[in-house]
Amino acid sequence: PKSHVGFDSITTQIEKKLLKRGFQFNVICVGQTGLGKSTLINTIFASHLVDSKGRLSPHEPIRSTTEIHPVAHIIEENGVRLRLNIVDTPGYGDLVNNDRCWDPIIKYIKDQHSAYLRKELTAQRERYIQDTRIHCCLYFIAPTGHALKPIDIVVLKKLSETVNVVPVIAKSDSLTLEERQAFKDRIKEEFAFHNIRMYPYENEEYDSEEAAMNSQIKSIIPFAVVGSENSMTLNGKTVRARQNRWGTINIEDERHCEFVYLRDFLTRTHLQDLIETTSQIHYESFRAKQLLALKE
Ligand code: GDP
Ligand code: MG
Repeated sequence: PKSHVGFDSITTQIEKKLLKRGFQFNVICVGQTGLGKSTLINTIFASHLVDSKGRLSPHEPIRSTTEIHPVAHIIEENGVRLRLNIVDTPGYGDLVNNDRCWDPIIKYIKDQHSAYLRKELTAQRERYIQDTRIHCCLYFIAPTGHALKPIDIVVLKKLSETVNVVPVIAKSDSLTLEERQAFKDRIKEEFAFHNIRMYPYENEEYDSEEAAMNSQIKSIIPFAVVGSENSMTLNGKTVRARQNRWGTINIEDERHCEFVYLRDFLTRTHLQDLIETTSQIHYESFRAKQLLALKE
């Protein structure tokens, strides 16, 4: 028999080290005021928040777009620590004149790349560079049931060149299941027509399992979501729910909305890939451009 030298324990060694260091995940929420951004983030992560600097509340006063506001959280599950930065962009698209309202958002994202690059290039590099690069942009689409707004197309196009964009149909409880499907199909056609490249991207490095998972996710995106900070007891179980004209919506029930798909996507299946893709595609292209510009 072959002798066993033990290097296969490297996975355990890496795991130990990573667990000690923890993980950083940064999400930005973009969309009009009142589309349920704060509520949704709370619905996804709140039950696990162990420490927050600042408050996640749906009752914050309306602020203007220029005040881009990161809030740091630490969430913990089975000994795994996730440092979560949630960046809210309140008030986006509310102004009568929306001309270039996306500029501060794009600037914010690029500023994080730029800060990271500067730290990478200093002679005395820190061992672990604090990562504030945005790994995921949740883009909230109003549940009009018709089509994307012209401004959505412009902003999505800009954003998708800079960051992993994940679109959601906000407050989808205001649509019937048929309307929801028709709206989704329409949105997808528009993405294709306007050539908006959305995460997850094609990549030869994905194995067949990952590729299958991605094509499944692509068929669901944009996630039709409903958020709620209220719990109700349904059939003896406490669930997050929302009451509307037609009855009670159980947010965790896939027959009612796609909240669970979004949460699983963000936390269970694509967390690591969102982080990696940010570094390998978006940050890399920013870095290449900057370094080329330096040479000229
Ligand atoms: P934000 O301005 O995008 O952060 O929106 P908020 O999270 O503050 O929500 C605005 C209002 O919409 C609040 O009254 C929420 O209770 C309500 N809301 C949030 N999510 C939903 C949803 O999924 N469906 C419905 N019908 N209302 C929602
Ligand atoms: Mg808000």
